[in-house]
Amino acid sequence: MNLTHPFLDADGDKLREECGIFGVIGARDASAMTALGLHALQHRGQEAVGIVSYDGSDFFARRGLGHVAQVFSDASMFAELPGEMASGHVRYSTTGGQGLRNVQPLHADLARGAFSVAHNGNISNAVHLKRELVDKGAIFQSTSDTEVILHLIATSRYPTLLDRFVDALRMIEGAYSLICMTPKRMIACRDPLGIRPLVMGKIGEATVFASETVALDVVGAEFVREIEPGEIVEVRQDGRLTSHRPFGNLPARPCIFEHVYFSRPDSVMGGRSVYEVRRQIGAELAIEAPVEADLVVPVPDSGVPAAIGYAQQSGIPFGLGIIRSHYVGRTFIQPSDGARHADVKRKHNANRALVEGKRIVLIDDSIVRGTTSLKIVQMMRDAGAAEVHMRVASPPTSHSCFYGVDTPERHKLLAARMDVQEMTKFIVADSLAFVSIDGLYRAVGAPGREDGCPRHCDACFTGDYPTRLTDLAEREADAGQLSLPVGKVA
Ligand code: AMP
Repeated sequence: MNLTHPFLDADGDKLREECGIFGVIGARDASAMTALGLHALQHRGQEAVGIVSYDGSDFFARRGLGHVAQVFSDASMFAELPGEMASGHVRYSTTGGQGLRNVQPLHADLARGAFSVAHNGNISNAVHLKRELVDKGAIFQSTSDTEVILHLIATSRYPTLLDRFVDALRMIEGAYSLICMTPKRMIACRDPLGIRPLVMGKIGEATVFASETVALDVVGAEFVREIEPGEIVEVRQDGRLTSHRPFGNLPARPCIFEHVYFSRPDSVMGGRSVYEVRRQIGAELAIEAPVEADLVVPVPDSGVPAAIGYAQQSGIPFGLGIIRSHYVGRTFIQPSDGARHADVKRKHNANRALVEGKRIVLIDDSIVRGTTSLKIVQMMRDAGAAEVHMRVASPPTSHSCFYGVDTPERHKLLAARMDVQEMTKFIVADSLAFVSIDGLYRAVGAPGREDGCPRHCDACFTGDYPTRLTDLAEREADAGQLSLPVGKVA
C-alpha cells in the first residue's frame, strides 16, 4: 500500500472512475429530469449517484450509493431538490473509494460564489497537482481527482469566475467532460482533445447536457450538437448561450472505446450510430478473420451488434447460444478474481439446445483480463460445442486507460502479457482473432493511423497516449528510485 499516494483510500486501492453526467437549465422539474437522464446513463456507472439543484437562491443536494432508482426511489425526493437548474452524476469505480464523500457533483462555496462540478474522465496530473495544493495548505474532502478542479479555481488570482475556471483547466491534463453550476449559469465543457463525450439538447426552453444522446432521447429532448473539443458553453437562466474556445483548435481525439463498448448502442456519437459502428466492426472482423462454422454466438450483451455484423457478412446463422441473467451486475466490477469467476457463471448460461454439436464463432467486444472469455469458451464446450472460435470486436487491449475508462493495471491485461497464440491457448479456444486497428477505424468511419494523425484516442490498443501522463511518469520515477539497491548513490 502506498500511503503517500494522495488518492488512496483506506484499502490502498486507487480510485478509477467511469462516469455519466447530465445537466439541465430552464426546466420546471429539473431534478426529476436529471434523475431520468442519469437513469439512461446508468450503464456508465452503477456504484453511486448524486444530483445538485439550484432554485434561484440556494443549492440543494442528494447523493447516495447504488443505482439511480435505488437512491431516488420516491418522487417526493425531488421536492427536496427544487429549482429550474440541476446536474447529476453516476459513478462506477472498482474497489476502494466507495464512500459518500466521493459522490459527485462536488460542491464548494468559493470567493466568487457557489460552484458545483460533475466530471466524466480522469485527470492525469491530479496527484501532482494535489500534492502542490496540499503543500500550500489546501484541505481535501474527498479522494476524487475532480476536487482538484475546485481547489484550482479557488486559488486562481483571475478576477471573474469564468477566467478562474479557464485558468484551472489550463493546469489540468487528461480527459474531462464537465457540467458545472453557479448561481447564474450552467457551464459545460470538454477537454481540448474531446476525449470523453458530451452532447447538448433542447427541450422547450430548457437546455440539456448529457454524456450520451440516449439520455436526451429518454427525457424527450432534441439533440442540438456535441460540445466541441476544448469548448466551454455557458447557458444563463434566460437560455442565452455563449461559447468560448480558450484552448484554440487542437485536432480532436475522442475515445474510440466509447464506440467499442462503453456507450449504449442506441446513442449517436461523432455523428455515427454506436449500434451501426459495432455492427460494422463485426463485418470487418468477418472479412479479416473468417472461419468455417455453423453458428455465430454473441457474448451478451456487449457482443450482440458485432455478432450480427459478423453473421450478416459471413452468411453464418446468428443465434443466442448464451443467455444472460438480467439480475446480476457487470462482471467487471467484482473486486477479487475469485468473485469475478463465480459471477461470470451466475451471469451467463449456455443455450445447450442451440449449441450442441455445432462449430461456434463466439463474439465479444473485448478481452481485458481474459476471465470472461476463458469461462465462456469452456461453457460452450460443456454445452457440447464441436469447435469454439473466438472473434473479438476490438484490437488486443494491451495498455491501461488513464482517461476515465476502468482498465486494470497493465500487468493484468492479457494482451500485455501474451501474444495471440498464447492467448488462444489461455482461453482454450480452437482459434482466436481480433479486429485490426485499421478495421476498427474503417468501422468507425474515420481515416486510420497511416497518416500519423489518428482521429481518436486509441491508447488502450496502441499505447499512443495523446496527453502527458504526469502522475504515471512521477510514479514510475519514484518506483525507479525506490528500486535502487540500498547504499548506491543515484
Ligand atoms: P475480461 O473478462 O477481464 O477479459 O473482460 C472482458 C469483458 O468485460 C468483456 O465481456 C467486455 O464486455 C467487458 N468490459 C470490457 N471493458 C470494460 C470496462 N472498461 N468496464 C466494464 N466492462 C468491460
